Amino acid sequence: MDKQQAKELFLDTLRRTSRLRSAAALLEWDMDTIMPPKGLNVRAETAGAISGEIFRLSTADEFGRAVEILKETPAENDAKMARMLEVADRDYTRFKKIPLQEYEAYSVAAAQSSQIWKEAKANNDYDMYAPHLQKMIDFSRSFADKWGYEKHAYDALLEEYDPALLSDQIDPVFAELLAGTKEILSSVPQRQSRPEVPVAEKNQYEIGMYLLKTMGYDLQAGNLYSTEHPFTCTVHSGDVRVTTKYHENQPSSSVFSVMHEGGHGMYEQNISPDLDGSNLMDGTSMGIHESQSRFWENIVGRSLGFWQSNFNEVCRLAGKPLEQNAEEYWKSINHIQPSLIRIEADELTYNLHIIIRYELEKQILNTSISAKELPELWNAKYKEYLGVQPANNNQGIMQDSHWAGGSFGYFPSYAIGNLYAAQFAASMQKELGAVSSLVGSTNGLGSIAHWLKANVQQYGKLKTPEQILKDATGQTLNAKPFLEYMRQKVKSLY
Ligand code: ZN
Repeated sequence: MDKQQAKELFLDTLRRTSRLRSAAALLEWDMDTIMPPKGLNVRAETAGAISGEIFRLSTADEFGRAVEILKETPAENDAKMARMLEVADRDYTRFKKIPLQEYEAYSVAAAQSSQIWKEAKANNDYDMYAPHLQKMIDFSRSFADKWGYEKHAYDALLEEYDPALLSDQIDPVFAELLAGTKEILSSVPQRQSRPEVPVAEKNQYEIGMYLLKTMGYDLQAGNLYSTEHPFTCTVHSGDVRVTTKYHENQPSSSVFSVMHEGGHGMYEQNISPDLDGSNLMDGTSMGIHESQSRFWENIVGRSLGFWQSNFNEVCRLAGKPLEQNAEEYWKSINHIQPSLIRIEADELTYNLHIIIRYELEKQILNTSISAKELPELWNAKYKEYLGVQPANNNQGIMQDSHWAGGSFGYFPSYAIGNLYAAQFAASMQKELGAVSSLVGSTNGLGSIAHWLKANVQQYGKLKTPEQILKDATGQTLNAKPFLEYMRQKVKSLY
């Protein structure tokens, strides 16, 4: 194979796998939205066949050889090509370590386990779910061993979501976050939250569409749907769908799901079209992805300024006042109280839910603990960190879908995203002025969206997460800006 052939093969493989990923995303979308229950078994196999094909293309010996040939002459590769090769090489090496059969078995088992988790959750039946969870744990341990790691098996899985972040780096940051959170929490007076004003689904949909437009999410390249669990589905940058779930008696839930998923969606929509069909057309890490969703959900969506300028319109769309005024509404959506369910947690205690999962994941990967033993450990940690105890496993260990799908190592990204978002906000503030004012006008929201696009989103995977953070903030991962932001916020709330 000469250099020209290597280049053609390399680019062609990336383009094909990128399109296959689009197909896989659509199948998954259908599975999570309108597929009838009897579609499951064959669909799981179909999804397995597509991921198997992606796997086969990305691990073909000739693809590996093409990467080697192109890497031999680094001077001839521009920055984009160099980074494409770096990402392809890492994926190739990682993929190559897992036998195809094991990978396919994992894909099928993960799809089944996710489905069983839904049933088990509906019946509050952990025993039904435990053997499937155990399978996911076993696969993950086997992958970690094959991928390899220096110190902790868990690091091999973290790399899947946040390349280059090791648990030894996360530990001190989370320790600071935990201590700071406890200290801030101790200054928050505990009082009951008021029930929300109910809003009909169709009005909530109108509110969701209004929020997406206000944020600058491109409705010609996406749309809003409703599903059991809110998520963002990227088919490609021109087709990025977001979903929400409507709770009639708790309309704020959809408000924040929409802003959260809309933030993810804007990241995917705003990646430079130059990267289309390459392996860089994607968020650079889960942590950075979460920083974009949380920026919109929390820093914008839970701010006073945003509601001062949008409260009246949202109430008009709701067909009724949601509170006495914008300030009261802002207070109600910032009610801080330790609770059982991660996705309903407030901005401050949310990270404690993540630290609990992070500590359990380290135990799951670094020790030989079994699925059967997990509920007890889960409950003990909730008591210790949040002072609450789940009455059943539905409100406890079965609340999340991640482990059911074999995604160990994913959770830390949520808290890391919160920390990155506050780091970005601090930098943005130096360039554009107070974020608390920017959120209060259409122009200001436009400057926020533009800053995020220019400093983070447009690059896709062209820059590493560390590079993005360093270029945009001059820092590495750090809990201080988040804690400072929360301290100020709690002071103005109480
Ligand atoms: Zn998210």
